[in-house]
Amino acid sequence: MNQDLEPPTWTLRDGTLRSPLLEAHGLVAGFTTRALGSMAGSVYPETEQAANRDALARRLGFDAIARVKQVHGNSIVRADRAVEPRAEADGMWTDRAGVLLGIAAADCVPVLVADGAGRMGAAHAGWQGTMLGVAGSLIAALKADGADTSQIVAALGPSIGPCCYVIDESRAKMLRRLGDHVRERQGGIVFDLWSANLAQLESYGVRDIEVAGICTKCGGRDLWSYRARDAEGRYGTQLAFLGRPP
Ligand SMILES: [Zn+2]
Repeated sequence: MNQDLEPPTWTLRDGTLRSPLLEAHGLVAGFTTRALGSMAGSVYPETEQAANRDALARRLGFDAIARVKQVHGNSIVRADRAVEPRAEADGMWTDRAGVLLGIAAADCVPVLVADGAGRMGAAHAGWQGTMLGVAGSLIAALKADGADTSQIVAALGPSIGPCCYVIDESRAKMLRRLGDHVRERQGGIVFDLWSANLAQLESYGVRDIEVAGICTKCGGRDLWSYRARDAEGRYGTQLAFLGRPP
């Protein structure tokens, strides 16, 4: 672990890492670990991953998990229940209790938000989604429905950290447009997904933001990382989740 990282804020409970900030608002909010199995995409059989998702939903007290077909974009949809086929989007929101929102991630950062008046949302932000402003789009969607952005609380879940997210110069050139989130380190250039998304949320008026501070690659929390695939190239995905119990 790079020593200039802040200590992690999210804590382990029942095989999941939880957001103390969002859970203090009466929500169920967190990120699975490998202990609960791979959750979506990846190289594991879909029947196995669907069973893992169902088990997770039940364990958390929900019937099913609402998801989107993540495409590294910035579209946000309303998701009041689990439907197939899933909408192509990288963020979703609802104001209904009993709906568990789920975002699959192995290195991209899950962005979880709630407005204190029942609205909540989740987004998937890798470097492309961050470039396209998906976190800001999620806040804009809540605001369009009447949310007061100054009341929104947000959490950035575990993802590849600035300790490990090495990028090449061509990508660095693009990402420098976002501000001071690309840094020169011994061993290469790194991108800080956490500070970039934090800044984006702040620019939309969100003030209360918690950063999990756990790197999927080196954070030692039993997580899969796309960038730490095994010798056969295998990896799984975690699921970030957010919902108000029914
Ligand atoms: Zn790391």
